[in-house]
Amino acid sequence: MEKELIVLGAGESGTGAALLAKAKGFSVFVSDCGKIKPQHQAELEFAGIDFESGRHSEERILNAIEVVKSPGIPDHSPLVRALGNRGISVISEIEFAGRYSKAKMVGVTGSNGKTTTAMWIYHLMKKSGLDVVLAGNVGNSMARELLERDPDIFVLELSSFQLDGMKDFKCHTSIITNITPDHLDRYDYKFENYVDAKFRILNNHTSDDIFIFNAHDKEIMERLKMMRYPGHRCPFAFDDVYGEGACVDGEKVVFNTPNHHFSIPAGEIALPGKHNLSNAMAASLAALRMGASGEAVKEGLKDFPSVAHRLEGVTELNGVLFINDSKATNIDSAWYALESMERPVIWIAGGTDKGNDYSELEELAVQKVKHLICLGVDNTKLMAAFGNKLPGVSEAKSMSQAVEQAVNVARPGDVVLLSPACASFDLFDNYVHRGDLFKAEVKKHEG
Ligand code: ADP
Repeated sequence: MEKELIVLGAGESGTGAALLAKAKGFSVFVSDCGKIKPQHQAELEFAGIDFESGRHSEERILNAIEVVKSPGIPDHSPLVRALGNRGISVISEIEFAGRYSKAKMVGVTGSNGKTTTAMWIYHLMKKSGLDVVLAGNVGNSMARELLERDPDIFVLELSSFQLDGMKDFKCHTSIITNITPDHLDRYDYKFENYVDAKFRILNNHTSDDIFIFNAHDKEIMERLKMMRYPGHRCPFAFDDVYGEGACVDGEKVVFNTPNHHFSIPAGEIALPGKHNLSNAMAASLAALRMGASGEAVKEGLKDFPSVAHRLEGVTELNGVLFINDSKATNIDSAWYALESMERPVIWIAGGTDKGNDYSELEELAVQKVKHLICLGVDNTKLMAAFGNKLPGVSEAKSMSQAVEQAVNVARPGDVVLLSPACASFDLFDNYVHRGDLFKAEVKKHEG
């Protein structure tokens, strides 16, 4: 049997990798044990790529020259183990695509803030006239983008799963926004394994490379202390950063890189919340270090549009502001959302619980929330956590019920915040579906 490049999983990254592999002359076979989306299937067919769905043909796969594994497939799955036992190299789509690019890579990872930071870097670089493409977890896969062209710079949002399959790939500038426990089921329930995965973003760094990181993050700082990092350290923080980096000094955000030293009023940063100040600092440092101009960065910090489903303003109805933060799928992100609220909050939360400890939200909720609407199939845990601590708590079994209740209890000057702290899969397809339904239900109450 002819040796093939095997692609496991036919989502965006798998399909992109298969199309790029075919364009580079490989004999490719794509195997997905689930259902392949019609648009991806059509693309594979059009490119003449052989594929299967609903199963993995082991014999064929175990004859691979190399395997590109999609991030959704765990390392401990029997098939991936069998590949390892045969000594067959298993890599990520980014590792594969990276072989065909001469671009400088900017990688963004972290438990929260990846998409916002990556999009913000892209915005700042574009404004500065740099030749940049945004890819990875946000938008198209890098492999698919490479079919079009190889830009000067790729800005890549990288999940821990994408970082797991990296070997020779190098990000010239790497960002870790923060590290809090997430996805531990994929890391043998060991937090240190998850931290290891995040730190793979520094793989292959040498003295010319740059690490931008949150200096308040305990995990990042501890790990950094233990390692010999060879590149440039570029921290951001809410208090003083000596030397290179960014920090908040009173009402100002100060930036200091080898070629730039300037500040802008913190109140002028486009997105609300302390977490977005962190994202803004990280994004600016990356853009400045990769050649963006100070003027473009200053402007882009002020006019970056909000990102859908992340503290996204929906509308104001009868003096009540509606905010969609559907992407807040864990406790930490909901914490930052609540923290940034400046009006009394009607809070819609709940969904698929990922082992949440709601006590971490208690103090903020008591301070800010006047009514909690628990939106999920099973609201027991949420009700038990907040039931007798907040002035009002109710249950909803659909988005239309939740919005209806919110409209009824809200008074002018309040904010209705959808920031679930949970995954969406009990009632919705994904967080986008959940956020879109929220916006649609809110719109029904207009006029
Ligand atoms: P990710 O891509 O890592 O999931 P996003 O930028 O999509 O992160 O933001 C997801 C949610 O996390 C947002 O809705 C917001 O509430 C919260 N968030 C964003 N940035 C940060 C940050 N730097 N620290 C903590 N939470 C954040």
